[in-house]
Amino acid sequence: MRIGIIGGGQLGQMLGFAGRELGIDCEFLDPSPTAPAADAGPVTAAAFDDEAAIRALASRVDVLTYEFENVPVPALEAAAGDTPVYPPLGALASAQDRLHEKQLFESLDIPLPGWHAVDSRDDLDAAAEKLGYPIVLKTPRLGYDGKGQFVIKGAGDLDAAWSTLGGTPLIAEAWVPFDYEVSAIAARSVDGVIEHYPLTNNIHGGGILRYSRAPITNPELDSLAREAIDKLLEKLNYVGVLALEPFMHDGRLLANEFAPRVHNSGHWTIEGAETSQFANHLLAVSGQAPRPATTAGHAGMLNLIGEIPAGARTLDVTGAALHDYGKAPREGRKLGHITVIAESAALRDERLRAIGQTVTGSTPDFGTTG
Ligand code: AMP
Repeated sequence: MRIGIIGGGQLGQMLGFAGRELGIDCEFLDPSPTAPAADAGPVTAAAFDDEAAIRALASRVDVLTYEFENVPVPALEAAAGDTPVYPPLGALASAQDRLHEKQLFESLDIPLPGWHAVDSRDDLDAAAEKLGYPIVLKTPRLGYDGKGQFVIKGAGDLDAAWSTLGGTPLIAEAWVPFDYEVSAIAARSVDGVIEHYPLTNNIHGGGILRYSRAPITNPELDSLAREAIDKLLEKLNYVGVLALEPFMHDGRLLANEFAPRVHNSGHWTIEGAETSQFANHLLAVSGQAPRPATTAGHAGMLNLIGEIPAGARTLDVTGAALHDYGKAPREGRKLGHITVIAESAALRDERLRAIGQTVTGSTPDFGTTG
């Protein structure tokens, strides 16, 4: 089995490492010849819309997948030819456009924050009237890690928000004073077999994921999340790993967005679950059933952003594992992560706090997360 992966970042690298253990060969396409995935398989250096390069890759592999969700859908569709592409391109197209994504959630009765489409300055006034303040104004496409967003705290911010982001169709969202953020990750096979990872609690800073902890032991939330993700997987006739990111507010889950790919909040599954999200994605897209996603104890993860401090390499914390993606340091860039495993949630949090203190110089506040 040979899988072609569009995108050669750290997600590609970890897919490739999982492939080695499964006896699956992975090959990548990425604009950068020094992409992290080069550690795990050959990389074709080509742009994501280079149809000839995608076609050549498709001709060498059994199936195509992607680890980067801003791949142009028409280029991929045209170039794939007879080679199957999983997850299906309909899922990719929906995830690329917040308007489609919200309409999809609504059509499936998946609860989501109040929203309003904003195509003009008048629409922005209408959004404020409908949603109240604060509002988050977002670009519908090519936004990630909080990029392309403007928080409008009151009427005095409307003009600034419009002059920053206006001129292109936008989405206004009600600000959710969430208790915490979670992600639900599941894998679905070609035959429709679904394997769910336990719900993960996520802490963001500056729009970037900083910490993840799993499992959240709240059976009610777990079943709400499963219901929502199953609806999405079935509707999209999905194959592979999907991550749904809801806000937990007042005992409800409000869907923010979904990613049609392996996800940063699932990195803990490498050490913390019986089968990692990376292995299950490869199994699913290659026509095999996903394997058990059950957890091995309690897992935590800390992203290493901008730099990998020396202390991260000399950690003396039981159950900790460093993953260095081999990327050049740059502000705001995800360079690696540290996973920690423990027998209890309390011990996991204690270890993760110690790691956070060493690596970032401050102790994270995990609050109460059920
Ligand atoms: P996104 O790009 O939509 O994932 O947003 C990045 C982060 O911004 C989220 O993980 C939240 O922490 C925050 N955020 C985005 N939208 C909202 C919202 N409607 N209410 C509260 N926080 C939000």
